Amino acid sequence: MTLTEKDSQYLWHPYTQHKTAQTPIAITKGEGALLWDENSKEYIDAIASWWVNPFGHSNRFIADAVYKQLTTLEHVLFGGFTHEPAVKVAEKLMEILPANQQKIFFSDNGSTSVEVAIKVALQYFFNKGEKRTTIIAFENAFHGDTFAAMAASGISFYTQAFQGMFIDVVRIPVPVKGEEQASFDALKKVIQQYNCAGFIFEPLVQGAAGMVMYEAEALNELIQICAANNVLTIADEVMTGFGKTGKTFAMDYVEQKPDMMCLSKALTGGTIPMAITTFTQEIFEAFYDDDINKALFHGHTFTANPTGCAAALASFELLQTPEMQANLVRVNASHLAFQEHIKNHSKVTTTRVLGTIFALEIKKENEESYYGTMRTKLYNFFIENGIILRPVGNIVYILPPYIITDEQLQKVYEVVENALEII
Ligand SMILES: *Cc1c(COP(=O)(O)O)cnc(C)c1O
Repeated sequence: MTLTEKDSQYLWHPYTQHKTAQTPIAITKGEGALLWDENSKEYIDAIASWWVNPFGHSNRFIADAVYKQLTTLEHVLFGGFTHEPAVKVAEKLMEILPANQQKIFFSDNGSTSVEVAIKVALQYFFNKGEKRTTIIAFENAFHGDTFAAMAASGISFYTQAFQGMFIDVVRIPVPVKGEEQASFDALKKVIQQYNCAGFIFEPLVQGAAGMVMYEAEALNELIQICAANNVLTIADEVMTGFGKTGKTFAMDYVEQKPDMMCLSKALTGGTIPMAITTFTQEIFEAFYDDDINKALFHGHTFTANPTGCAAALASFELLQTPEMQANLVRVNASHLAFQEHIKNHSKVTTTRVLGTIFALEIKKENEESYYGTMRTKLYNFFIENGIILRPVGNIVYILPPYIITDEQLQKVYEVVENALEII
């Protein structure tokens, strides 16, 4: 039996309708921006394996750090104990996070980092004896698949089975270019109408919605409105964090800083599942009390796993090397050149670029759903041509590992351009 056959006997994959899904591709090896399947077919990983892998697959520098940690202290409980890797991660984050972020809380995945932020927003007001129970989120947001994260997410086919079982969330439109005022007005109205505890957003880029982008000035205004009304702001940087937008964090483009930030995906360079939620000192102090009931009763068995911390520390180091910073600039310049080349193509409606993120929307005849026929056709064409891209409906986006070579990047563009001819 091949790996794929054994897989179909036992495994249940994410976001997959197994009855109609194509069989998964069995990957046996990865190096740099490349992956190989069990038949030795080569693929360029042009989406960094769901946006987690900035420095390339099987990275030796991270692997060495992980090995060293595994053979020194692989894990220890974080309740009542601490360790150097966790302290070092905190110290390093204090250097690179917006200055108002003063406390960090570890967990294991992006959804949980959001879950923690939302729980903290709700309990913050509970601890202060103030009734605020509504969370504000953008339309078409994606914040993950645990219950509060799902409630905050607006992509409805992910969540329709659970409608009516969620915490209270109200939605405002994304302030895309030309529609900023509608978004500001909606936020003000919602704050007047409901007892809002927090506003969660994907800063500057909505990833799962198809790399939908909006300007830093607009986000700045929205955060100001929240700050003026004592509504806590949560920047979900699970996708945007650690260089994707060209700066370390998307919030580095925005003057007003959020009360909390959520980090995961590229945190450990795409190696070990780990997430962090960060907070201002003021939020921490709302939980700091003689009364044990005011504590944050949240935690996970693998909280602050030292091996994950070691991978994160190695990743921070890699991101800050001049070579990696040059890669960010190089990938961005390359995207901009491709954008110039492709933007007037008859089948392209819009293109957008921020940092290492490129997206284009293809003209559609009919309403194209998230997993619709155009999407399937495109996906298969990319796979046939040895490129891993996962279009969102009629949107094709490229979010490569930063170390992708110019040659590999040109091949990705070429296949994307050719794909326009088969649609
Ligand atoms: C991927 C993602 C999440 C969820 O992270 P998981 O690790 O998949 O749980 C949350 N927010 C954003 C913006 C994401 O892109």
